Amino acid sequence: MLRQIYQTRNMHVKVIKMRWMTGGVNYSYLLSTQDKTKSYLIDPAEPLEVIPALKTEEANTIEAVVNTHHHYDHSGGNGAMVAELHEIGVPQVQVICGSHSSPGATDIPKHLQEYKLGDLKVKCIRTPCHTQDSVCYYVADPQTGEKAIFTGDTLFTAGCGRFFEGTGEEMDVALNRRILDGVGEPNWDTTKVYPGHEYTKSNVKFVRQAVFKNRGENSSLDKLEQYCQKNEVTAGAFTLRDELAYNPFMRLDDPTVRDAVGDVKGSLSRAQVMEELRKMKNSM
Ligand SMILES: [Zn+2]
Repeated sequence: MLRQIYQTRNMHVKVIKMRWMTGGVNYSYLLSTQDKTKSYLIDPAEPLEVIPALKTEEANTIEAVVNTHHHYDHSGGNGAMVAELHEIGVPQVQVICGSHSSPGATDIPKHLQEYKLGDLKVKCIRTPCHTQDSVCYYVADPQTGEKAIFTGDTLFTAGCGRFFEGTGEEMDVALNRRILDGVGEPNWDTTKVYPGHEYTKSNVKFVRQAVFKNRGENSSLDKLEQYCQKNEVTAGAFTLRDELAYNPFMRLDDPTVRDAVGDVKGSLSRAQVMEELRKMKNSM
């Protein structure tokens, strides 16, 4: 009985695959309240793929199109998506983005600014590095205790985004201070991670080749490796606490990670370790 009540009250995250045929392996997400009366549509870059994935009753509940950053494979569908929603009678659609580089932006949240989506609290964590306008959206449902974070191209499962507009120091701050502090330690265990791309398999391959080389060395990585061999979609299957266990970009002081970048004496700064790791991943 309890279980039934719990299940009917869950917030909902619909995972929508985009650009998988062309190798982008992007995700768009529909985040909805427990009663499915209000939703945010995150990074609907390819409306031709997103619209068919939405039921009319789902599309009708969309209050905002939300972008994690301005790159076209995240924000390029804003205009067409809002037009489509107007077409089917959704009167007002906000466009929440990190900057006006995202087409049609109506709302540019400040760091730690919060929105309410029905009962859901959505906290905007600004994480400049991949782009200067990168924003991670942390969602908490106070009714059920459920939590999720939409991390765009800043945090990937077992990896992180390239530093197109930032430095290693900025990525360290983004992942290891802003995301972790913004979510808060009591919530790390229960916050599910929804990244902008399905890169888990190749990230695990890198971590296995470069850092935790042997099975049994990092049991969390072993589990992740097994999971992504069996499951094509890993979005929402792992938590921030899991990331802290296997993601080398979140373990910059781990001697094994420092060994991997050739810092046997532990003399590099965290920012330097971050830079070196990213260089190694780029050249894989
Ligand atoms: Zn990007």
